[in-house]
Amino acid sequence: MSNISPEEAFKRVIAHAKEYGFIFQSSELYDGLSAVYDYGQNGVLLKNNLRTYWWKAMVQLQGNVVGLDSAIFMHPTVWKASGHVDAFNDPMIDNKDSKKRYRADVLVEDYAEKLRQKADKEVEKAKERFGAAFDEAMYRSTNPRVVEYLSKADAVLTRFNKALEAGDFAEARQVLIDEKITCPVSGSANWTELRQFNLMFATKMGSVAEDASDLYLRPETAQGIFVNFLNVQKTGRMKLPFGIAQTGKAFRNEIVARQFIFRMREFEQMEMQYFVRPGSEMEWYAHWKHARMQWHLALGLGADRYRFHDHEKLAHYANAAADIEFQFPFGFKELEGIHSRTDFDLSRHEEFSGRKVQYFDPETNESYTPYVVETSVGLDRLFLAVLATALDEEVLEDGSSRTVLRLPYAVAPTQVAILPLLKKDGLPELAQTVYNELRWDFQVAVDEKDAIGKRYRRQDAVGTPYCVTIDHQSLVDETVTLRDRDSMKQIRLNIKDLRSNLQESVSMTSLLKKLI
Ligand code: ATP
Repeated sequence: MSNISPEEAFKRVIAHAKEYGFIFQSSELYDGLSAVYDYGQNGVLLKNNLRTYWWKAMVQLQGNVVGLDSAIFMHPTVWKASGHVDAFNDPMIDNKDSKKRYRADVLVEDYAEKLRQKADKEVEKAKERFGAAFDEAMYRSTNPRVVEYLSKADAVLTRFNKALEAGDFAEARQVLIDEKITCPVSGSANWTELRQFNLMFATKMGSVAEDASDLYLRPETAQGIFVNFLNVQKTGRMKLPFGIAQTGKAFRNEIVARQFIFRMREFEQMEMQYFVRPGSEMEWYAHWKHARMQWHLALGLGADRYRFHDHEKLAHYANAAADIEFQFPFGFKELEGIHSRTDFDLSRHEEFSGRKVQYFDPETNESYTPYVVETSVGLDRLFLAVLATALDEEVLEDGSSRTVLRLPYAVAPTQVAILPLLKKDGLPELAQTVYNELRWDFQVAVDEKDAIGKRYRRQDAVGTPYCVTIDHQSLVDETVTLRDRDSMKQIRLNIKDLRSNLQESVSMTSLLKKLI
């Protein structure tokens, strides 16, 4: 879909997701609930397959990573220890003219990014002018205009972040005023005061109001892993280094939740905490950065759609952090975070619980607090990355076009569709026999309605990699045609060879083998 704007392409992705049963707005019957979504009959299959791909790669293939499924509700002190009660805030600001609400840090970051893009444009122009002799690094550090753009971007971000850290919201707001950062809707810089807003959802446990205690819906799955570190280590007799992985729902009361399933208020995370000896964390950080990128690349969406963003400004608990960014229809944005979290979390839980949360190392005969390297990816964001990249409007040789969802074969909702050419002559019965055989290993659909061309298009639109067509010859010699979604090429093969043929191209194992 190269001839349409990114905005239009994104709109088509959202419309397609709904039309073909991938994603529905939550409570649509009641006009919907903002930034909450439901996965439909095809969406749930794709989402499950993506989760399985993660789980098998992170647990089954690792040997020293085990799973966990901790509860969403946790003791309220967990969130004090983790720092979420005091610091899981976003700075919020409203424009008085448009009445729109924004995250002030996002407004400032977008402004800085625009300055950087201006610098990049200057560099591009110079590159064209000077040709082969062009020394980009030199130009970036000496050209007055480029230097001015880049240092301005840095200065603005530094001033804003410093003000926030100091809790000086008036000064943080002043940055928007001084830089004339305006509301994209009203175009004015008529801003309200800036306030900090905690993103955790609070609720109460217990039936009697006086006795009820305040609880939070977890804003990340990681803390469930940290508080179970000793349980898993001891009962599993785990030796360092080892990991604990879990997938599950997390909840954040996002101030601005746009961009479809990119930023939701209820979403799913897939996180793995890798516990290591202090001092070895940088080695493991590099290891997981590489491993996680390879995992993404194996999906085949295109290497140029990914990039690392190494954090310069680190969270208080981290000594290294990077994002894997993906090129969404609205630009490069965070898909996964990889963080070296030091011993911050385990030490804090030791402090707040009053219990010893340490590891006894049989090799060195000493007890210490392990360091942690975390990998954290949003399942819904991954879903969006895959769906948005896969949707294609292909113009065929005869001038007609087809909508095809080029999903990675192994994660497609349905791997194979069985299509009896006619609804008579025993063809539907043979289709049923083939279905009964294949359904043990694959998600299989049988479609008997409409002309065969129309049925192919329907399967293309939901991303089914293969269609098996049963025709009269099938009754004679037990062969069928197998049509490939992407090339639309058909081969004829024996029914008894279908299973092994499909296994090679659409099974989860075929995808996982790309990793090793
Ligand atoms: P962002 O900067 O986009 O708000 P974050 O840095 O707060 O994300 P983390 O706390 O590192 O995100 O969470 C890990 C992953 O969880 C993210 O990389 C993202 O894929 C996913 N995630 C976080 N918040 C949301 C959300 N509101 N909706 C969907 N996915 C999310």
